Amino acid sequence: MARYTGPSCRLCRRENIELFLKGERCYTDKCAIKRRNYPPGQHGQARIKVSDYGVQLREKQKVRRIYGILEKQFRSYFEEADRMKGVTGENLLFLLERRLDNAVYRLGFAASRTEARTLVRHGHFRVNGRKVNIPSFLVRSGDVIEVREKSRNVACINDSLEAVVRRGVPQWLELDKDARKGVVKTFPTREDITTPIQEQLIVELYSK
Ligand code: SF4
Repeated sequence: MARYTGPSCRLCRRENIELFLKGERCYTDKCAIKRRNYPPGQHGQARIKVSDYGVQLREKQKVRRIYGILEKQFRSYFEEADRMKGVTGENLLFLLERRLDNAVYRLGFAASRTEARTLVRHGHFRVNGRKVNIPSFLVRSGDVIEVREKSRNVACINDSLEAVVRRGVPQWLELDKDARKGVVKTFPTREDITTPIQEQLIVELYSK
């Protein structure tokens, strides 16, 4: 299972937006975007005119990096979104939101999507009573996601739950903090995705 293992803050600086890839650190003054708000690299502070293609590419990279997806899998999501009824760009975001690692993060069981992915891979969660350790598993309306009994004392899960108040749980999910359980009430809507994303740019990029 391939994944990006380089510095996370570099990705935020490249996309010029806080992607919240490092959990608690993202809410402190140590956040690299707050300290060095320009792209990384030797020419980071140079004035470069960005083409239309460049704008579309950056938007696609931003979404890919938010959800921690590599190019090939991201393209597969796009193709699936394109086959679905409705607006392709929104379908793409809904598919990404429905990933189990994202749902775990959104419910507050993990401080970041990267941490959520690791926790899922390590088998700390059940979906509808069955252990699921596939981060790309797509949750459906009515699914119950819960921390496994033997994982109730995992410190990072409990710490994240204490901090979930700041982030809030989106409307399509419902958290029962004491029971370490979350319910997928409905499919996510566009309003549930509050990060500024112009998904039509990704559609334009892939439609070339
Ligand atoms: Fe991005 Fe978080 Fe690093 Fe800030 S601390 S640059 S939000 S990963």
